[in-house]
Amino acid sequence: MTEANLVEIFSSFQGEGPHVGCSTLFVRFGECDLRCRWCDSAHTWKPAAACRVDAPGGARELPNPLAIDDIVAACEAFDLSRHRFVSLTGGEPLLQPEAVDAIAKALGARGPRILLETHGLLDAALARVVDAIDVVSMDWKLASEVRRAGRSTRDPREPFDAEHARFLEIALRAEEVCIKVVVAPSTEDEELETMARHVAAIDPAIPVILQPVTPVGPVEAAPDPERVLAWLASLERTLHDVRVIPQTHKQVGVA
Ligand code: SF4
Repeated sequence: MTEANLVEIFSSFQGEGPHVGCSTLFVRFGECDLRCRWCDSAHTWKPAAACRVDAPGGARELPNPLAIDDIVAACEAFDLSRHRFVSLTGGEPLLQPEAVDAIAKALGARGPRILLETHGLLDAALARVVDAIDVVSMDWKLASEVRRAGRSTRDPREPFDAEHARFLEIALRAEEVCIKVVVAPSTEDEELETMARHVAAIDPAIPVILQPVTPVGPVEAAPDPERVLAWLASLERTLHDVRVIPQTHKQVGVA
């Protein structure tokens, strides 16, 4: 029987990317195999003991792992039909591909579009689930700010570009794909240029979202506005659809 380790299920609006502002039910998976310096979901790095369900009528906790039927029942309590999207997010959902596939099929059949938010590195896992996904929202991680979790024999500065490119090729089987790149004061121009070359070689029309890091918690500063504008202008020389979209849900003060 397929089961999932989830951290939380809650209703809000999409705060990032091209579908910003759309009503979204979030299903957040436990565990992540990366460590992004600016991560705002560190509580998801390890599998969770219980899943918090912030349903109408009061929050409750369901012990992990959860059966797919119980997850679907918990989601239905939010009135799925009024949500434009279900976001499968994390943590890293693709560490649990069987659960992603089962939840996407079950909830997608009930109306909302299924949007997968992923760090964009686990290409074999994506291949197993992509037919059940409507929108793949993948990150393009920059080695200046992102490390792999645990002990690794790899050079910590080794870039993620080749893995992202393989992942993107598979993601294009979904109805819609977008790429999010979090940019910070330490972001190097060359990292963004390399990303743009990889994306352009696959399809320069794929939307690329530059998301300036939000200065909250341990993050002290966003990148200078002048640099953000310079990155936008530079990437537009190679890519057809580059947008700057900051996180909006934090401005409103919701999850
Ligand atoms: S991939 Fe996502 S959940 Fe994992 S550390 Fe990075 S931002 Fe956090």
